[in-house]
Amino acid sequence: MRKLIAGNWKMNGLQAELADIAAIADAVSAHLGVDTALCVPATLIQTAATRFASMAIGGQDCHMAVSGAHTGCVSAEMLADAGAKLTIVGHSERRAAQGESDADIRGKALAAKRAGIGAIVCVGETEAERDAGQAEAIVLGQLAGSLPDEAASNWLSVAYEPVWAIGTGRIPSVEDVAAMHAAIRGALVARFGEDGAAIRILYGGSMNGENAASLLAIANVDGGLIGGASLKAEKFLPIVQAAA
Ligand code: 13P
Repeated sequence: MRKLIAGNWKMNGLQAELADIAAIADAVSAHLGVDTALCVPATLIQTAATRFASMAIGGQDCHMAVSGAHTGCVSAEMLADAGAKLTIVGHSERRAAQGESDADIRGKALAAKRAGIGAIVCVGETEAERDAGQAEAIVLGQLAGSLPDEAASNWLSVAYEPVWAIGTGRIPSVEDVAAMHAAIRGALVARFGEDGAAIRILYGGSMNGENAASLLAIANVDGGLIGGASLKAEKFLPIVQAAA
């Protein structure tokens, strides 16, 4: 399966950082065998999408409604209107800080489909849940609740991001990543049949140029969702190269 390497800039990036996006767009342009995306702050989407065509520009969240009295929110239609080709939904930072439920995330994923853009739906357990032996049950529960029945490989990807691996420099063992991605694959095939085998499952959490090759070689790891190492071309490029 063609891999997807997507960057998540989180709440980082002013106009001054358009130079960094330009450098990333330039660096990835030679790697045509890999799908690449950069999910930037909403304020940078339009400029980035207009200027840089070598990778998809995405958002990091969307509201489930088309428009209305939702102060401060951005709809999927607005993301599409600004030039976004996809959006992340259900990142653990939003599940925790904004109290997003699986049902909210399901609605947001459907909103992305309605607007004609892709969605990366995030799932992942906390360290306490893993220590309690509940990681797989938590992740499969999130997956069941967060994916709409309309999920399909041509617009949706899943990102498995263990919360304890995000921004910590710690990653699960190869065996644990393989087991979780196999469990997610099994759930996708059980629910969506043949197309469930084609839905990309990304790994996210402290992926970098050193560990990307071994993570991306694991069965059912169809790409990466990259935080810190997506902010600079020299850190992002080795990950894209590892996926090629
Ligand atoms: P880091 O790559 O900084 O650990 O972040 C991962 C992440 O949360 C991507 O969505």
